[in-house]
Amino acid sequence: MVLPITKLPAQVLRRSVKDIQFPLSKAMRRLLLDMLDTVKAARGVGLAAPQVGQGLNLALIYLEESGLPPFFILNPKILETSKETTVMEEGCLSMPGVFGPVERPKKITVEFYTLDGEKQTLTDDTFLARVIQHECDHLRKTLIKDKLIDITHGKELLKNYDE
Ligand SMILES: [Zn+2]
Repeated sequence: MVLPITKLPAQVLRRSVKDIQFPLSKAMRRLLLDMLDTVKAARGVGLAAPQVGQGLNLALIYLEESGLPPFFILNPKILETSKETTVMEEGCLSMPGVFGPVERPKKITVEFYTLDGEKQTLTDDTFLARVIQHECDHLRKTLIKDKLIDITHGKELLKNYDE
């Protein structure tokens, strides 16, 4: 089921999230399936739980077009970031229409739990690293609105997302 996407200034996007407990409940698994439907319908590359109104510490990474099977990161924690950064244009489903460059560490190491409650560590320096950082930001109450160096598209829409 496709869920409505929470947009700024919705408060849930600025609230702390709760860690996920294992094993996952049936309701939680249902939510994860719905998040998958939602990110596909929105043509996004990632979706964090607060973006569907849930104050939960989890996000979905959806880079299927780049050949990566979709996966969830539960209770993620970025352990390391490189000094080297890259700047790339980003948008966000919670403030649709607004795009601009965001600077982020190029390489990260992230620890997270899988759906089975298994702890995994991932190191990456590709677009995936950027998407993971964007989603982890959502779980720390941060949106690209706080990080945009410039606005390349949608300056006139920004007022809709005033908080
Ligand atoms: Zn976003």
